[in-house]
Amino acid sequence: MISALLIAVSLAGITVGLSSDLPVSYKLDIRLDTLNHKLYGEQTVRFQNPTSESLERIVFHLYPNAFSDTNSVFCGEDNKVKADVASGNTSRLDLSDIYINGRTVDSAMVEIKGTLMYVTLRNKLPPGREIEIDLKFELTIPRAMVRFGHNGRGDYLLSHWYPILCGYQKGELIDREYYANSEFFSNFGSYDVIMRLPSDLIVGSTGSLNQIESEDTLSIWHAAADTVIDFAFACGKNFESFRSDTLGITINYLLNKENKELFERIDNITKYSLSFCSERLFPYPYDNFTLVDFDCGSAGLELPGMIAIAVDNAGRGKSISSLDALIAHETVHEWFYGAIASNEIDEPWLDEGLTTYFTSKIIDNYLDVQPGISIFGYKIEYNDISRIFTLSREISYPIDLASYDYPGWFEYESAVYTRAGMTIECLEKAVGDSVFSGALKDYARKFRFKHPDTGDFEKTISAYIDSDLSEFYSQFISGTARVDYAVTSMLYSKIDDDERTYMVEVMIRRIHDGILPQTISIGLENGATVDTVWDGRSRVASFEFYTDSRPLYAAIDGYYTYPLDSKISNNRLYHESHSGRLISFDWDSIFFVEFLLSLLL
Ligand SMILES: [Zn+2]
Repeated sequence: MISALLIAVSLAGITVGLSSDLPVSYKLDIRLDTLNHKLYGEQTVRFQNPTSESLERIVFHLYPNAFSDTNSVFCGEDNKVKADVASGNTSRLDLSDIYINGRTVDSAMVEIKGTLMYVTLRNKLPPGREIEIDLKFELTIPRAMVRFGHNGRGDYLLSHWYPILCGYQKGELIDREYYANSEFFSNFGSYDVIMRLPSDLIVGSTGSLNQIESEDTLSIWHAAADTVIDFAFACGKNFESFRSDTLGITINYLLNKENKELFERIDNITKYSLSFCSERLFPYPYDNFTLVDFDCGSAGLELPGMIAIAVDNAGRGKSISSLDALIAHETVHEWFYGAIASNEIDEPWLDEGLTTYFTSKIIDNYLDVQPGISIFGYKIEYNDISRIFTLSREISYPIDLASYDYPGWFEYESAVYTRAGMTIECLEKAVGDSVFSGALKDYARKFRFKHPDTGDFEKTISAYIDSDLSEFYSQFISGTARVDYAVTSMLYSKIDDDERTYMVEVMIRRIHDGILPQTISIGLENGATVDTVWDGRSRVASFEFYTDSRPLYAAIDGYYTYPLDSKISNNRLYHESHSGRLISFDWDSIFFVEFLLSLLL
């Protein structure tokens, strides 16, 4: 507690420093050897026990060792990476000269298990107390593969590249192996990094970056970052750097020279995304943001204060389904992965699902670009295809599993990205846009720099909305409920009534197990609509309406409230005398995509 008070300093309204919320600080001094694709480093880590128990050991992630040979858990789960490693494209992170509080750590105190290194402490570390670990390391940098490497043209992306302390969440050590579907979790720390790099490289990094010395062949750079969960950098000969700014944030772009004409487009969506999230969640908490154009084996990658985008792969087409959505997605991660920092390994939906949901919001609001693809004049929103593709299948896995509990990438992706995004959107529609946006902002602000879990999210949203959402959560977050309601018949007859002329009977069927409250409506020939609200519980339900005009159609969720509805085309039934209107729905695009996919699946 004393050290927290003494060391804490205020940076743009955020308390930083070594405190119980910020238990780690790193000092790194590294040298990059571009001839041999090696990186040599010296590292000092100060670590404060953030738990309420005394610690017997500390644990480091050695992520690059997932690619040291084909026996790793990662290679066992990913054949493509395994083949790459088998062909000789390997990486290694070797450590030496490990000291704790100035005393040598001998080999008997070190145990390597897969990509994790456990170091037994000579003396237990009591709660709140600090230790200092010094070590040296040597990294063999692979040709760009999983999220890092060099591209063979002199450009490098270094992410998850040095010995990183495993994080703690609510007092629990998160010492997970590096699995093929897993991303990352670590605690907030401060970074002070000296980088000795060849002089001819353009450089970008997490945090603020300054060149402090430059000679003929060697330049020394200093990077500093506070309250970040990791540190990454990129450097290369092929980059051209651009600068921009928005809301007081300096934006650094490292674009491939061949892509420099895309600068304006990239800059526009980046600034838009930063502003959108700053307004809807909380202000971007850092002074710098860096976008690196680099293909590291995935289309886009989130890093603290930095994103990597494979601009070439994202395509130069006009469709927003590619480059703009990708940049928006990775930028949104700066909040959910970077500053809120939920656990991407154990609860990936909380990051990827919210990020997917928020990316849709950005793209929907980003008016400068062409919205969606058009087929025969039907506008298809950029996420319609993945939505319908995902929802048309059986659901075997809930969205809240740990990344390593999904059997493969397809199951992982469709649950934690697509279905999780749709689930959040469905929740938003069920409670109302503006209420939900307030609830999400409340969650984001409450848990900024706090590593929340699913329970925190659910409780905060329920409390803000002031209603019991447990049934929704158990069906769609921890459960595998599917939603489909159908209008099965609509009959009407003339009645002998002074006020009304027709009695309309509408039959509805709940086809799957998922239950959502519904609005049943009928459209009348005179242009009016009449509706009624139903709790959606029974398997079959019938509704009577009394009208003075003949009915044209009956609809369930006729306002398209629920993106989780797995079949939209049975939501509306025209009376047989109007069956010719079957394809003039006002939700044409969704119906049309559904129809196309029904031919394919
Ligand atoms: Zn993502």
